Amino acid sequence: MQYKCVPAPMQITINNKSSYDGAVRSFADLINSEAVSGWKFHSMESIKVRQDPGCLAGLFGQRGETVEYNMLVFYNEDLKSSGNNWICKKCKNENRMAALFCNSCGEKK
Ligand SMILES: [Zn+2]
Repeated sequence: MQYKCVPAPMQITINNKSSYDGAVRSFADLINSEAVSGWKFHSMESIKVRQDPGCLAGLFGQRGETVEYNMLVFYNEDLKSSGNNWICKKCKNENRMAALFCNSCGEKK
């Protein structure tokens, strides 16, 4: 069993009911698009990430800020942490031996 995390939309801005429906559906689309390659939805978590100010902002005494991000956690029962799988060099996702492309970012094996 393998787990992976995918960034979730930070917030959903709406101005009428139809856009609310659309925003919620796009969330479902995100989950479904992972399901196609065998990843099942596990949960949504939030993590705090500290962003350091850029060079210039640092010069002016600005401090880093902590931003909270949401992420969707998926699991894949078919993937085992065995030597037969390969790790994507781009995104570090673990892929099935038979897969020619990374099922997370599409990078070639
Ligand atoms: Zn990848």
